[in-house]
Amino acid sequence: MARITPARLRKVSTTSSGDTAPASNWGNRGVPKKLREQVLRRDGYRCQLRYDGCIGEATEADHIVNVASLGVARAQAVQPVGLQAVCVPCHRVKTQAERTAGIARHYAQRHRTDEPHPGLL
Ligand SMILES: [Zn+2]
Repeated sequence: MARITPARLRKVSTTSSGDTAPASNWGNRGVPKKLREQVLRRDGYRCQLRYDGCIGEATEADHIVNVASLGVARAQAVQPVGLQAVCVPCHRVKTQAERTAGIARHYAQRHRTDEPHPGLL
């Protein structure tokens, strides 16, 4: 059995390019530039969310339904019909809310306590 030495740990936690990229791409909601421009033009470069703090001018494309909650591959979700033009402040608010909901959902699935183990009955 191989012992995990600090040196080994360092080796696994650094990427080949040497940067400090996070292990998961959760929250990376990048939309291809061409598609984003298509969505922005369709929505007239106006933010579709209009949350508090909205600046009105949309520069980003947002997934109307959060990709993570759809449970589909990102490639399937990236279509103009599932996207809307949004401004930076609104996008940040929506992304944060979706991330919080995603974490809560993840936690609920992993820590169910409502069903007692059959062996304990
Ligand atoms: Zn906005």
